[in-house]
Amino acid sequence: MARAPAARSATPLVEAIRARGLRATAPRVAVLELLGRARTPQSHASIAEALLGSGWDRATIYRNLVAMTEAGLLRRADLGDHVWRFELRRPGPRASAHAHDRPERAVEHPHFLCDSCGEVTCLADSAVEIRAGAAVPRAVRRKRVAIQIQGRCDRCAP
Ligand SMILES: [Zn+2]
Ligand SMILES: [Zn+2]
Repeated sequence: MARAPAARSATPLVEAIRARGLRATAPRVAVLELLGRARTPQSHASIAEALLGSGWDRATIYRNLVAMTEAGLLRRADLGDHVWRFELRRPGPRASAHAHDRPERAVEHPHFLCDSCGEVTCLADSAVEIRAGAAVPRAVRRKRVAIQIQGRCDRCAP
């Protein structure tokens, strides 16, 4: 997928942060860059360790992870092992800024957790459909849910 060239002074990441009403501080940009490169959701511990050389302590990284999650830039999931992992909230075909107005698109991509080695895989092109009937909890309609599929990864069950 080609990205538009960054002709303006503000990078796309800086613009994305500002579009969510946050100041585009250096730790926030660094966290988004890191998660943009990551193939899988990352724990606070691994993010803090990766950014150790930048001089930000764990608490700073954590505060920024929480702020960007609340602002809708990141998604946070506990995949059943009681570790919060963070990943970018990638916009769908339509800008995700309006996702909360579209409850029919309530379901984010699922994650596969290997119950043997603990490896996490984003099933980014997969979807689980939950029909938004009266019995569906508000959390589902508001995307405050994580969908997780467990089993054995290819390495553990060849
Ligand atoms: Zn495995
Ligand atoms: Zn994912």
